[in-house]
Amino acid sequence: MGSRQSGGSLEKLSMSIDGIPSAPAAGEYFETFDPFTAQPWALVPRGTAEDAEHAVQAAHRAFTEGEWPRLHPTQRGQLMHRLGKLIEDNAETLAELEVRDNGRLLAEMIHQIGYVPNWFYYYAGLADKIEGAFIPCDKPAFNFTKPEPLGVCVCIVPWNAPLLLMTLKIAPALAAGNTVVLKPSEHTSATALKVVELFEAAGFPPGVMNVVTGFGQEIGEPLVAHPLVRHIGFTGSTETGARIYSQAASDIKRVSLELGGKSPNIVFADCDLNNAVKGVVGGIFGATGQTCIAGSRLLVQNSIHDEFVDRLARFTSQARIGDPRKPEIQIGPIANRMQYDKVLDYVEVAKKEGADVALGGKRPDIDECRDGWFYEPTIFTGVDNAMRIAQEEVFGPVLSVIPFDDEDEAIRIANDTRFGLAAGVWTADMRRALVMTEKLDAGTVWINTYRDVSYTTPFGGYKQSGIGRENGVEGIKEYLQTKAIWLSTATEIENPFVIG
Ligand code: NAD
Repeated sequence: MGSRQSGGSLEKLSMSIDGIPSAPAAGEYFETFDPFTAQPWALVPRGTAEDAEHAVQAAHRAFTEGEWPRLHPTQRGQLMHRLGKLIEDNAETLAELEVRDNGRLLAEMIHQIGYVPNWFYYYAGLADKIEGAFIPCDKPAFNFTKPEPLGVCVCIVPWNAPLLLMTLKIAPALAAGNTVVLKPSEHTSATALKVVELFEAAGFPPGVMNVVTGFGQEIGEPLVAHPLVRHIGFTGSTETGARIYSQAASDIKRVSLELGGKSPNIVFADCDLNNAVKGVVGGIFGATGQTCIAGSRLLVQNSIHDEFVDRLARFTSQARIGDPRKPEIQIGPIANRMQYDKVLDYVEVAKKEGADVALGGKRPDIDECRDGWFYEPTIFTGVDNAMRIAQEEVFGPVLSVIPFDDEDEAIRIANDTRFGLAAGVWTADMRRALVMTEKLDAGTVWINTYRDVSYTTPFGGYKQSGIGRENGVEGIKEYLQTKAIWLSTATEIENPFVIG
């Protein structure tokens, strides 16, 4: 795990509070690591409750005083447009930073960060289209509703796709008129600290967007507990999500939770096998398996089990592993030491449970991978859905293959987990596809595709994969509250002591 001591001559990054680059109140920093070299490359401010207090106060001031609350939603949208354009212009620099912190492929990050501005454009357009309603009420009154922002929103995100995941929260929160305190993961703080500079350049008033850094218990918890905070938008593990949910309950804060998954990718014998192989491989080994929607359980119909596993192993073994900055590389390192150790542990767990290694199960024997946190794409066969390797989220390049006979068995196995984030179905039979979409307990179901996500389309979990939705029109509703207004049309108020 990354050292928590400050040291050496590494560049010191700054937090951003009230539009001002800020050193941590306690004066402490910790190292952030490049997963390709496993070496530290910068020092990140180790924020504490004092920094949380400053940031929330700044966001509260920006929400209640000054320019931001006076802006018309159209003007908020214009600022967001400018920000989107600045992110577009800086996509390559931001992608390089992201890769340095989390080891994702540079080509993939340039593409992903190039797509991020769409969220700002989409919610910029929505900002002045959020309408209330006139209610045909049974009382003598003009009765209408007005959607209003909540206030200070805290956004807490993990390390696998920092810039994208923070955008999914910040864009709707700002479009709705809130102010934000963002806490990125302690493993990947750099892009958040860079992108906040673009908010200022776009013309956002100081305090509307604040970024603090550090560890969950040291600065995350004080943010969640702060009485001026009205909403917690959290993406991360189900365990942390549960802790935040119960903490937020003590003073009735709103939460939206985007949590873990153990998603089934279900392959029927009648599907296009070439497409299914590509979809299954992309679903689990894309981003080195470090996505919440990873299709980490492959449910494959018994009649094609051996052939499909064989094709899968052959296709996967062609993937080039190495330096994520090189364009020819297809699989990069695991993002941090803690996650690397977790993958190693789960491979041992699977072996002990009696699963068979069909591919991988070890570090790659490649020169340029010697220092970094690399692990081969790994396929386990002979997995029973009751095993830990089928029930617990690995969040790494490890696929569990589970055979089934028919639709009913596929649905039973697919739903037999505490998670419900996503599911994939590969079949040529559209009746079957529709039946599966109805019976699968998942917030997203893909038919003959996998891992598609868009700013237009609601995303979120069933069961322990989360609460609330991001993206699309549903996404902005998480950041609004409804005020009902009664304007009496009666000429005389009735005597309150005469009932009826
Ligand atoms: P994590 O839960 O350990 O940490 C997530 C964030 O929460 C980090 O910023 C961390 O510092 C902070 N945190 C930790 N403890 C906290 C506390 N007590 N109070 C406040 N903040 C706290 O998760 P991780 O390891 O960073 O990320 C991996 C997890 O994220 C996986 O479970 C993955 O499935 C999930 N994830 C979900 C989605 C989704 O949209 N559903 C997307 C990406 C990742």
